[in-house]
Amino acid sequence: VPGVAELTAGYGNFMAGPRCGEATCDVCFNLTDGYGRCYACSRLPSALDAVLPISYSVGGEQLHYALSGYKRFAGPTARRFTVELAAVLWRFLRDHERCLAKAVGVERFAVVATVPSSDRARDEHHPLRTIVGTLVGATRERHERLLLRSVAPAPEREFSAAKYAATRPLDQESVLLIDDTWTTGASAQSAAATLRSAGAGSVGAVVIGRYLNRAWQRNDRRLRAMPATYDWSGCAMCAGGHP
Ligand SMILES: [Zn+2]
Ligand SMILES: [Zn+2]
Repeated sequence: VPGVAELTAGYGNFMAGPRCGEATCDVCFNLTDGYGRCYACSRLPSALDAVLPISYSVGGEQLHYALSGYKRFAGPTARRFTVELAAVLWRFLRDHERCLAKAVGVERFAVVATVPSSDRARDEHHPLRTIVGTLVGATRERHERLLLRSVAPAPEREFSAAKYAATRPLDQESVLLIDDTWTTGASAQSAAATLRSAGAGSVGAVVIGRYLNRAWQRNDRRLRAMPATYDWSGCAMCAGGHP
C-alpha cells in the first residue's frame, strides 16, 4: 500500500501554498489587487474563526481538475483522485492542523465535519465524507456528519444560514470544517453559521484548494513567482509570508 508521501509526490509539482502578505486576503488568502481583504470576504459574514487553504487551485489546471474530477467522474479515475486527495489532506493535517487550532485558540479540534454539497441528492454520496470519515487517519475518528443540506432554496454562491441544518445540538465543541474548494467562501461561511447556531465553539476551516483564475489581474505573474515545488513543512499560518 503506497503511503501519503508517495501518493502526494506528484501533487507537490503543481500545488502552490498560500502565504500571508500584501495584496492577499487576510481571511481566505485570495490574491487581491492591493486590498487586505478580497471582495467576496469583505461582503460575507465571517462565521469562521479562521480559514487555512492547503493550496491554490487554478481554474482548468491539475489540482482544479482533481478537485472536480473526484466528484464528477466514476470508476477508477474518480477513485484515484479520491485516494490522492485524501493523501494530500492527511499529509497536510498531520503537520498543520495544530497551526489552525492555535489560530482559533484550541488545543485540538473536537469534531471534524465536512461542508455538504449544494445539491441534496448528490450530498447523499459525497466522496468528501469518504475522505474525511474513512480514508484520512488524522480525521476519521473525530468525523461526524454534523450538517445536512436543508430544504431551503439557496443560491449557490451566496451566504445563507438556512442552507444547512445541524444534525444535533453542540455543546461548545470546537469544529474543524473541511471542504474541497473555496471559491467565494459562501458555502463554508454558511456552514459555519449553522454550526454556531447549533452551539459550536471555535470553528476553523481547512480547504484543499483556494480557487484562482489565472487570467485575473496579476495572478499569472504572482503564481509564477511562487516556489516551483510545494513546501509541506510550512502552511499559511506557520510559514513566512510572500514579500
Ligand atoms: Zn477572501
Ligand atoms: Zn503550519
